[in-house]
Amino acid sequence: HLAEHHGGNVQEYDPAGDTGAPLRLELLGDLRRAIESGDQISLHYQPKIDLQSWRISGVEALIRWQHPQQGRMAPDSFIPIAETTSLIRPLTTHVLGMAVRQAKAWQQAGHPIPVAVNLSTRCLQDVGFAGQVLSLLHEAGLPADLLELEITESMVMTDPERALTVLQALRAGGIRLSIDDFGTGHSSMAYLRRLPVDELKIDKSFVQEMTVSHGGSVLVRSAISLGHNLGLSVVAEGVEDQETADVLRELGCDIAQGYHFARPMPAGDLDRWIIEHRAAADRREQGKPMMS
Ligand code: C2E
Ligand code: MG
Ligand code: MG
Ligand code: MG
Repeated sequence: HLAEHHGGNVQEYDPAGDTGAPLRLELLGDLRRAIESGDQISLHYQPKIDLQSWRISGVEALIRWQHPQQGRMAPDSFIPIAETTSLIRPLTTHVLGMAVRQAKAWQQAGHPIPVAVNLSTRCLQDVGFAGQVLSLLHEAGLPADLLELEITESMVMTDPERALTVLQALRAGGIRLSIDDFGTGHSSMAYLRRLPVDELKIDKSFVQEMTVSHGGSVLVRSAISLGHNLGLSVVAEGVEDQETADVLRELGCDIAQGYHFARPMPAGDLDRWIIEHRAAADRREQGKPMMS
């Protein structure tokens, strides 16, 4: 059936071929079936840590796909492909549904944790998107401030007026918004000021350069002061060691996320992690030597 998409020419798959089209179509078909069946796709959750109190301030939901033949697929190997088609919309709806149910479960268990979900350009191009998310929250009975949505600067650039309409409707509904991968786009301060966001996440490439090169630390410093000047909470992604966490705290960065604290993990593992981390944060508060 793949041949139909190549003008009827029956071709054998050539791994050195330059289009990659058969692989891409196969992947999209597999992904569509994965969304329908629901049992190959799951979410892992990575904690975000308040650098002052050391308490968990929220989690980011990250998609995981267990492909029946290929095994674990990295998001970067299928999300960008899904984003070129309309499949990204049912995929995002599926992810939002899982994230909202998990956030509700945590709230009902007595420890509410805000859950952040990554969006795609197409969501912000669809004027009905905000209404769909708000009714999802309503159906689940989840307070809007327990859902956070991550966008990137480039997602807004495609059609800024339309994207702003969607973002304003989400924010008016009480959903927190965050700018992801900050520093990799080309936004001006004037432009950023117009975005109705609550949080800025500095891209991990700058965070990881910070303790190595002067250039990296200059960017992190200016992103922190830019964020604070705009009244945003500032998060550093990709924190892999204590030294980086210490420097970030000295620079006034509010929140950190990265392998140093925890890798993304299934919700059940995160429950156990939170209990251990809480004990470590309590000891830290009491000035006793910490475990981690
Ligand atoms: P992102 O939103 O910037 O997510 C952060 C990525 O950095 C995640 O990769 C996370 O596992 C990784 N990371 C966290 N801490 C560290 C660290 O200390 N060091 C390093 N080297 N990496 C760290 P992941 O899970 O592979 O996701 C990659 C990207 O795929 C995400 O980047 C996001 O853009 C996209 N993505 C993931 N889940 C979804 C989803 O449900 N929907 C959409 N549209 N995109 C998603
Ligand atoms: Mg993200
Ligand atoms: Mg990011
Ligand atoms: Mg990203």
